[in-house]
Amino acid sequence: MAGDALIELRGVNKHYGNLHVLQDIDLTVGRGEVVVVIGPSGSGKSTLCRAINRLEAVESGTIKLDGRPLPEEGRALAQLRAEVGMVFQSFNLFAHKTVLANIMLAPIKVRKKKKDEAARRARELLDRVGLASQADKYPAQLSGGQQQRVAIARALAMEPKALLFDEPTSALDPEMINEVLEVMRQLAREGMTMVVVTHEMGFARSAANRVVFMADGRIVEDRTPEEFFTAPRSERAKDFLSKIL
Ligand code: ADP
Ligand code: MG
Repeated sequence: MAGDALIELRGVNKHYGNLHVLQDIDLTVGRGEVVVVIGPSGSGKSTLCRAINRLEAVESGTIKLDGRPLPEEGRALAQLRAEVGMVFQSFNLFAHKTVLANIMLAPIKVRKKKKDEAARRARELLDRVGLASQADKYPAQLSGGQQQRVAIARALAMEPKALLFDEPTSALDPEMINEVLEVMRQLAREGMTMVVVTHEMGFARSAANRVVFMADGRIVEDRTPEEFFTAPRSERAKDFLSKIL
């Protein structure tokens, strides 16, 4: 894996005022790897995702995607964001656009795809997430689980090198969680590189290559799910697991 790192963070630090929200973060995500990030609320998981996508600037350290440092701004940055898709807890679909139009938008604007090609691809992706029949609906007409699957299709439409998920099922009713996790498991099986912040420990156990446990802005453990769940080393992880399992 070390020979083929897709996402690489070295010595990354960030503060919000006095709060040291990312502390000396070293993290490597290999191509095709699924890394689940867990940890208490406020430990810096979302900030880590946002730093990887350069939605947040960091103060020191380096972040590389496919061997290249993240660009600071401009066209190169827009290109980078297109290469790393992000799926949020709140689906962030455009309410006044149909499902199909939501998926077509960025490929047309950013990738300069032709409209008919973007539409064809969007239909393929909807089929892939089990929503082929919903193309002409508006987001509000769909369930939360369906909206999140549209958000995943929309991220995939940019043909990203990696996908970041920040608590993708936390806003969903329990009966809808599995349909979203199943789409994510399928992506993992197909070899998509994924960083997934989640409290779904079943997903972590079954789909992750590695579990990264964060507390107070630090990566405290970075191990296989088997190792992490059966024998957490740190008191912080033991305490966290005792509360959620
Ligand atoms: P997590 O996703 O693990 O819950 P976050 O990365 O969202 O943690 O936040 C880490 C810490 O940084 C929290 O204490 C949070 O309140 C703080 N924080 C997050 N975003 C901001 C911001 N834009 N300004 C100030 N503090 C923030
Ligand atoms: Mg968060």
